[in-house]
Amino acid sequence: MSNTGTPERFEKSFTQQEPIPEAAIARAVEILRSGRLHRYNTAPGEESEAALLERDYAAFQGSDYCLACSSGGQALQIGLRAIGLKPGDKVLANAWTLAPVPGAIHAAGGVPVFVEIDDDWHIDIADLRAKAEASGARVLMLSHMRGHIADMEAVCGTCEEFGITLVEDCAHTMGARWNGTLSGNFGRVAGLSAQTYKHINSGEGGLLTTSDPDVAARAVVLSGSYMLYERHGAIPGKDAFDRVRLETPNLSARMDNLRAALLREQLAGLNDSIARWNARYRVLEDGLRSAPGLRIVERLQHEAFVGSSIQFHASGIGAERIPDFIGKCAARGVDLKWFGAAEPVAFTSRYDSWKYLSDLPDLPNTKRVLSTTCDMRVPLTFSEDDCRHIARIIADVAGEFCG
Ligand SMILES: *Cc1c(COP(=O)(O)O)cnc(C)c1O
Repeated sequence: MSNTGTPERFEKSFTQQEPIPEAAIARAVEILRSGRLHRYNTAPGEESEAALLERDYAAFQGSDYCLACSSGGQALQIGLRAIGLKPGDKVLANAWTLAPVPGAIHAAGGVPVFVEIDDDWHIDIADLRAKAEASGARVLMLSHMRGHIADMEAVCGTCEEFGITLVEDCAHTMGARWNGTLSGNFGRVAGLSAQTYKHINSGEGGLLTTSDPDVAARAVVLSGSYMLYERHGAIPGKDAFDRVRLETPNLSARMDNLRAALLREQLAGLNDSIARWNARYRVLEDGLRSAPGLRIVERLQHEAFVGSSIQFHASGIGAERIPDFIGKCAARGVDLKWFGAAEPVAFTSRYDSWKYLSDLPDLPNTKRVLSTTCDMRVPLTFSEDDCRHIARIIADVAGEFCG
């Protein structure tokens, strides 16, 4: 064991994804050989790979419409514009999210109104109500951050009561459900990401889903369809486009056929990936549950999550010693992130570091919760044994602080 002799070390990379499936590579090579990479560059009678991906994804999601675009952040920005957000409009948003989310709100001309999170990382419904009342905001951008889905009955009930339009950021919840409904199907529009660290990987990429025909038509034109929108895969009828096509700007955020080819094959295997993620998650959860000083948040029965990352509270270690704890885990090959740092590090930043936004509020509860929040990626290149190994190392290091 590790307390006799050399401490155990974990050697694999936390940023190494699985290879792209061979069938996707073969299809991508075919597309490269054809030279027709642009989604509107089709041979007579041919449907582009991007259009086919839109059809596949709409079928997976159970939404009427889907748009493939260049990134998750662009999907969110387009979604906000497509629901009619105007410059200066306020947008409620849970304060724990990733930087592209406030970026999308800002780029669409919106002004974020950050809402507190609770101890389990969900949006705080009481604060949502208070902020909706005080700000008059009529849009909520809800990030299901790191896969934690709030009580969607409470969220949707609040939205209904205040006349709020819900936009869902499903970057970490592609394929996850709340009470049987897929995340993304609660709001007027949803944005998903196909960036390398999410659930399907085309390097960069995004998907937007909606079942509102006018939102779909505006989104397609916004993505840069020119007047070629009829070549999309999951779109409303011509009348919707007639209403919006001349009054909607082209933001040039299309997806190309090469990326679509990579994603179609991975989408076919997504449910299998989800099962593999969750098996790994449960191993980590089991291993960490008994670790000294750490608190696992038990996942709610209503939530069918995707365990592509895991979070825990290092409550017994305490915020002041967490950098040291993380450093000691890193020295043994285990790469944890901390959301409590005052300064942004790599992908991780806290809401109060987005200084380009004016009137950043003080959210004491969010800061308190994040001050003990540790976060770890779970790439599928880790085996269940690897996860046992990792949990052992974390528990061992935690024991040095809380022995
Ligand atoms: C990754 C991510 C996004 C944006 O995705 P990109 O494709 O990188 O633009 C949005 N929200 C959250 C919570 C994310 O993690």
